[in-house]
Amino acid sequence: MINVTKAFFPPIEEYQLQLQRIWKNQWLTNRGELVRELEDDLKGYLGVKHVVCMNNGTIPLQIALKVLGNRGEIITTPFSYVASTSVIVWENCTPVFVDIHPEYLTIDETKIEDAITPKTTAILATHVFGNPCHVEAIEAIANKHQLKVIYDAAHSFGVTYKGNSLFNYGDVSTCSFHATKIFHTGEGGALFCNNKALFDQLYFSHNFGHKSATEFYGLGINGKLSELQAAMGLAVLPYMKQISEGRKKVVAYYNKNLDFSNLKTMKLRENSDWNYSYYPVLFETEEVLLKVQKTLNESQIFPRRYFYPSLNTLNYAGKQKMPVSESIAARVLCLPLFPDLNLDELKKIIDIINTNI
Ligand SMILES: *Cc1c(COP(=O)(O)O)cnc(C)c1O
Repeated sequence: MINVTKAFFPPIEEYQLQLQRIWKNQWLTNRGELVRELEDDLKGYLGVKHVVCMNNGTIPLQIALKVLGNRGEIITTPFSYVASTSVIVWENCTPVFVDIHPEYLTIDETKIEDAITPKTTAILATHVFGNPCHVEAIEAIANKHQLKVIYDAAHSFGVTYKGNSLFNYGDVSTCSFHATKIFHTGEGGALFCNNKALFDQLYFSHNFGHKSATEFYGLGINGKLSELQAAMGLAVLPYMKQISEGRKKVVAYYNKNLDFSNLKTMKLRENSDWNYSYYPVLFETEEVLLKVQKTLNESQIFPRRYFYPSLNTLNYAGKQKMPVSESIAARVLCLPLFPDLNLDELKKIIDIINTNI
């Protein structure tokens, strides 16, 4: 069976070495040695100033919205994983959708200003499939209207824009370290923020608001990563270069061999260095997509409809129409992409697609 992705498993001996440290320390959570080491390693690897690891990629979005969203209207993208809309509603804010660019698939920055009202407090945009939003235009709009910018950068591990980590853009960026993401801790995530005062507030929010055992800065929740999860992260991180090289080869093979006369893939943002995290293909119609999906499934190949449905159609998200996103969500399929996908498997996937479009 071939799925859309396959979690990377580091050599078990290397994972066990990390676990031995936990047994030696007799310390399982509450920001132990391994979590702090992982954060330091991530700062070096990614080139970011402040990072706090968390228990998944959803809680940092909730914390950011709790602090910056302030129960207001949040301008967001309809084309993302459900978490980027559900967190807005969960935090008692109102999602206001802005349609996406038909080629980059990220929020269409030229349509953002029309959606701003006196109630707007923040923009929550996704660097979907690791493809950067137009961060400069979004920053200019945010500055002009005094809005906060939160990036759901769940797919953006290792992506750089103009040579700088994508996590360094916006007031806050978040990432997911879920098993299906390119860097993972099984379950996990992180929050990045370059403003030290804001970072400190977000940081204490992830640990119940604790200042010390008996004193509290303010409201908080439990977003802590455990030592067991950090152990996985420390064992995976040294393989990121290898993982990225393997993915790059698969992407190059798809690019070369898929028949793009009736098929499209996303356009990468200029001046960015991408991470090969997803391979979306856009079919001409949903009927063609369903036919291709069925044929692939019959061969035990399971691409995923990332992302379907368009998030503006969720029953708790209001009733705005987003024609570009709805059309793309109905026609997009993410193809299997992981380093040890072999040539025979790739040829089979490509053959099925090229003969059914
Ligand atoms: C995976 C993902 C999340 C949620 O991350 P978890 O670690 O699963 O909580 C949020 N946003 C996007 C775009 C994602 O793909």
